[in-house]
Amino acid sequence: MPRAGPTLSARDREARQLALIHRVARIATGALPLRDKLQRVVLALKQHLRCEFVACVAIDGAAGRFRCEALSTDVPTMIHVGYGREIGSGVVGEVAATGRTLYVPDVGKHPNYIETMPGARSELCVPVCHNREVIGALNAECRREDAFADSVDLVATVAEQVAGIFASEALDEEQRRRTALLGMVGELMRAALEADGLDQTLQRIVDFFLSRFRLENCCVALVDDAGEQLRLSAHAGESVFHAGGGREWPPALGVIGRAFRTGDAQYVADVGTDPDYVTGSGAVVAEFALPVRFRDRVIGVLNLESAHAETFDASNRQMLSVLAEQIAGAIHVAGINERLSQTNRLVEEKSAALMQANARLREVNARLERLSHMDGLTGIANRRRFDEALTSEWRRAARHGHALGLLLVDIDEFKQYNDGYGHLAGDDALRRVAAALSGAATRSEDLVARYGGEEFAVLLPETGPDEALRVAGHLRDAVRRLRLTHAHTTRGVLTVSIGVASVWPGESLSPAEFVARADRALYRAKAEGRDRIGAGE
Ligand code: GH3
Ligand code: MG
Ligand code: MG
Repeated sequence: MPRAGPTLSARDREARQLALIHRVARIATGALPLRDKLQRVVLALKQHLRCEFVACVAIDGAAGRFRCEALSTDVPTMIHVGYGREIGSGVVGEVAATGRTLYVPDVGKHPNYIETMPGARSELCVPVCHNREVIGALNAECRREDAFADSVDLVATVAEQVAGIFASEALDEEQRRRTALLGMVGELMRAALEADGLDQTLQRIVDFFLSRFRLENCCVALVDDAGEQLRLSAHAGESVFHAGGGREWPPALGVIGRAFRTGDAQYVADVGTDPDYVTGSGAVVAEFALPVRFRDRVIGVLNLESAHAETFDASNRQMLSVLAEQIAGAIHVAGINERLSQTNRLVEEKSAALMQANARLREVNARLERLSHMDGLTGIANRRRFDEALTSEWRRAARHGHALGLLLVDIDEFKQYNDGYGHLAGDDALRRVAAALSGAATRSEDLVARYGGEEFAVLLPETGPDEALRVAGHLRDAVRRLRLTHAHTTRGVLTVSIGVASVWPGESLSPAEFVARADRALYRAKAEGRDRIGAGE
């Protein structure tokens, strides 16, 4: 049994006290876990006080209890780490209640003394305070009477050091919690962002909660556009309500409805005592329903149910509230993503339709272009096409110093043909003459065009006078070979007269003059009796 040491000088006493304070300071700033630190502190204190028993308790004001966190004892005692009592009971309970140091020099005279260490004669209990709140106590007991008269101040100093240990542990814990929370927020947002559409986003959110917290079930009920009806939009876990999926949830019903109506988080520690609770799963003990807000409007409710009351302890509730605040953002982003992909789909559809329309337009344009260059009656090139070809061939010939040939072909006495056989027969004759001329001008670069009425023009690139005359002869023969009866002429068949011109285009001559030359040659052929070829000047 420890006994009081020999009387010490004041300086020695001071030195011993300082040594204790230093020892506790070193323990406090070390890297050990909270309970190990407290364990070392109570041991150091017991050795210093030369008593039989020292303990450190933590006080849970909300629960109205204190609990032993560390103890060092030389004798058997009913106290152990984890041992607890109500605030108010015994010396420690009294200190926990009043927040004031209590020194009992003779426990026999203290009415509220509860014996936990057999034979204890004196007891000292000093509160551990942080931010004016009593968070714990240091408790020493001794079998000697009045053992702590000189130690009250010293133990109070150590109690302040212990307060520092508690405070830094709380800070560490808070930091750990925040780090974990930050990680979870990130995880939740990532899960939501990577989802495809609102339904998948919500599903990932409820799956996330179910996997991170001890839950029976979790669901999100979203409010409809009118802001009146709730709809169970996603769920995870076991509950009868989740079976149907996507079903309506009357806002008047259950804790979910209450969270929606009040706009406040609803924490139900014991669902058995809540008149609003609607049983969805027999195992559920506690429920936590959180309104989901977007821009001050409640857009839905996140509902969590657990078979374990501690799932929703104060710190988890705080964490869940922070996470619930993220949900609105995730839902919003999912909505934007959905609209974006809808827009993309629409744009893709539109551009596909546009491409199709463009292709059709190009086709139509090409046809129009062909038509605009084609003579409607005969199907060969028209006057416009001829004029364009003349301009471009003229330039090309001038550039390369080539000759350009031109034949003007006019049906002889066609007026009489019309008059004799009718206009329709005249049209038919025009078509056949056009075909014959086209067939006779064999080179692909030669252009046979209807020049107007019963006149045709044949443009012959890189063709000198002799070759042009030769081609003209072919054309005339080709028409004759049609053997289209023309009883109203001396020749008896339909014939043509052809005016030929061939030049080397240059600045001294214009295309119009070129045509005029061919026209004059044609006039000469007519004047000379028709069915013949008129040539150069
Ligand atoms: P010439 O030998 O001097 O050329 O005598 P022609 O009768 O051929 O000459 P004219 O210029 O007097 O008459 C041309 C005729 O061609 C008049 C017109 O009715 C006919 N004609 C012009 N275009 C068409 C057409 O598209 N269809 C039909 N059926 N006849 C046409
Ligand atoms: Mg004519
Ligand atoms: Mg004619």
